[in-house]
Amino acid sequence: MHKPFKFRNRNRAVSADLLVLCYHAVSERWPADLSITPANLAAQLDLLAARGYRGVTFTEAVLHRPAHKAVAVTFDDAYRSVLELGEPILTRLGWPATVFVPTDFAGTEQPMSWPGIDQWASGEFGRELVPMSWEGLGRLAEAGWEIGSHTCSHPHLTELDESALDEELRRSKSECQDHLGSRCDAIAYPYGDHDLRVANAARAAGYRAAGTLPSRMSAEDPLRWPRVGVYYGDDLRRFRTKVSPLVRRLRAYRAWEGADRLRVSLRGRG
Ligand SMILES: [Zn+2]
Repeated sequence: MHKPFKFRNRNRAVSADLLVLCYHAVSERWPADLSITPANLAAQLDLLAARGYRGVTFTEAVLHRPAHKAVAVTFDDAYRSVLELGEPILTRLGWPATVFVPTDFAGTEQPMSWPGIDQWASGEFGRELVPMSWEGLGRLAEAGWEIGSHTCSHPHLTELDESALDEELRRSKSECQDHLGSRCDAIAYPYGDHDLRVANAARAAGYRAAGTLPSRMSAEDPLRWPRVGVYYGDDLRRFRTKVSPLVRRLRAYRAWEGADRLRVSLRGRG
């Protein structure tokens, strides 16, 4: 007989399933890997609601593991489309979500820019790269959403020296707090790029929870919490597989990491 799979977690007994999703933009027309249509987003979240999941913020999910089946919906990069097209879907379900904002770009009214999205800046989809304003982020916060940091400038944190790493972590945190008047407890590492040095620096900067985008779904450290990335090409069949508790438990095993690289890379998409 095989033992039942258990989600790896050293600190807490695991009762109900906890799912953390990572989205980026929401658009009717932008065919980017980082974008999802409102119809697909609604279908995916409706599926989870029908299965008994309820939405919570990222920090609540990670630090106060809910007793009920819970999903933390997170959006990286703070695209304006999340406010315009994503928020109504979450509001209809009565769920909060979490936005991770790169603070140097918020409120600029200009397309954001970093390797991975720059190819869209000059074409017909350039406006899709415009971030939310601080006022828009504040409206989401007032509605119960969590606003976390996505650093200041969206760098690869593992490539920074100590001083630059500290600046990206601490200044983005204080800017979120100054603009929104509430604590900023969470961060998502750009590109999911992190290592133990980055996680320890985030902890030292005062963060309590941090999202990654790993191929291996082992949840052992609140500062390296794995999220399931959902992308443009994920139809409902593929989404069902990605969110399957069994698949995620299998992905907690070290052996999955190498095998998964052969299947599809879930990293490096922003
Ligand atoms: Zn990003």
